Formats: sequence, C-alpha cells, structure tokens
Amino acid sequence: MHASRPASASPAASAPGDDGGDHALFMRAAVGEALRNPRYPFGAVLVRSGRILGRGVNTSAENPTYHGEMVAIADYVRRAGNRDWTATTLYSTGEPCAMCMSACAWAGVGQVVWGTSIDGLGSTGLLQIHLAARAVADAAGSFYTPRLLGGVLATTTDALFRRAEILRGGPAHEAS
Ligand SMILES: [Zn+2]
Repeated sequence: MHASRPASASPAASAPGDDGGDHALFMRAAVGEALRNPRYPFGAVLVRSGRILGRGVNTSAENPTYHGEMVAIADYVRRAGNRDWTATTLYSTGEPCAMCMSACAWAGVGQVVWGTSIDGLGSTGLLQIHLAARAVADAAGSFYTPRLLGGVLATTTDALFRRAEILRGGPAHEAS
C-alpha cells in the first residue's frame, strides 16, 4: 500500500537557501576566507544544497568592486554557472553593502546571512554606505524577496573586524 503523493514539482523559487540550516558552519567558512585579508576581513561563501560553490575575500586593492561578496558571486558563476540562484545562500562576515546587496537582488540569491552589522563595521573605522541590506532588499521588493539573517557568529566576526582596525593602525586613541 503505497500512498501516491503529489510530485514534488515545487518551483525552485519556493525553496530558497537550501543549506541544511547550519548557518554557523558556513559562516565559519566565510571567516576562513576573511582571514586571507586580515586588514579588511570581508569573507563570503555561496552555498547551494549544502555545498560551498563560491568563495571570496575582499580584494578591493585590486579592483574597487571586488568586495568579498562580489568575488564569491563571480566564483559561483565560474563553477556552477549563472543559474539556480534562488536555492543559494550567501554568507558574509559583514552585512552586505548597497553594491553587494544589489548584486544579490539582480542575481536572485535566495538567502543572505551575515555576521557584523553595517553599524558594527562603521564602529571599527571602516567607511560605510549607511544603507541596511534590508533597505536595499525592500527597495527591490517588486522582484526580490530574500530571506535575511544578521548577527550569525557575530562575536567571532566582530572580533575579526576589531582586530583588523588595530592592524590598520587605528584607533589612534581610545574613545571613552
Ligand atoms: Zn560590498
């Protein structure tokens, strides 16, 4: 007696972020990428079906658009093709900036997860465009409705960015 079940013909768009739910595991991988640039420790990985298919670290000294997320997106396209974005989750040590979050919208990345918030990044002396990832996603709401989650392993990523500030020679003085 086998019950016939409806074929699981759900569109890919209905299952974003198939990452097995192990956010901490993949955030640690993003931290691993970040360690390749200790002064600007923005690391990112793109995950689909529990596999890391894109990796990146900030290399903006080479090209101003090479934020960790942008590098990871390019790496994903190289390895997996320009497809299946709704099933991907992007993990980034820092909240994606307006450029990177817009790139996620154009790609259709299903889920975006980060550690340190934009305000947290700004407090370590990094220049920031003060536009929350949520605000960018909302502005793209006519075609893009990602799942967003901040603060994952933030204790680790916050420490990473504080250490980076010291490596860059700041803060020159202790404020308060
Ligand atoms: Zn960015």
